[in-house]
Amino acid sequence: MHDEPTPPGLGKRGSTFDDLAAFLQQPDPGGYPVQAVRECVCRSCGGRSFEVAVMEEENAARRTCLTCGQHEFIADSEEYWDDDTELECYCACPCGSEEFAAAVGYSLREDGDVRWVFVGLRCLTCGGLGIYEDWKISYGPSAFLLDRA
Ligand SMILES: [Zn+2]
Ligand SMILES: [Zn+2]
Repeated sequence: MHDEPTPPGLGKRGSTFDDLAAFLQQPDPGGYPVQAVRECVCRSCGGRSFEVAVMEEENAARRTCLTCGQHEFIADSEEYWDDDTELECYCACPCGSEEFAAAVGYSLREDGDVRWVFVGLRCLTCGGLGIYEDWKISYGPSAFLLDRA
């Protein structure tokens, strides 16, 4: 069985990438501003629906294209990923679905490097929006992560 991370912002819904992008960019008091959002698109087939797994102990996320089955890592997750499947858990919407459209929100430093990444998911069944994982990027240059949604 998979553990299910509890997404913040529960109850918000959307139907498009723009809705998810707006959700990722909403002001979060005390949080970092998100200046850039990139939609997740399968680098292999162009698909836009995914299952998303995160690591229990590390901050890392891997998406699996529902169209072609290709696994791809979000941002720098490949460096932190452990192939032990016991440590993986699949993101699940409160409605029970594990199929999502996905986008990554980036908080940027003044010099353009990435400070923080947020993995936002939109449930393809009920439209529920959530940030299911986020982590700090503490090295530079890191602007290349903008191309690794
Ligand atoms: Zn694909
Ligand atoms: Zn749902």
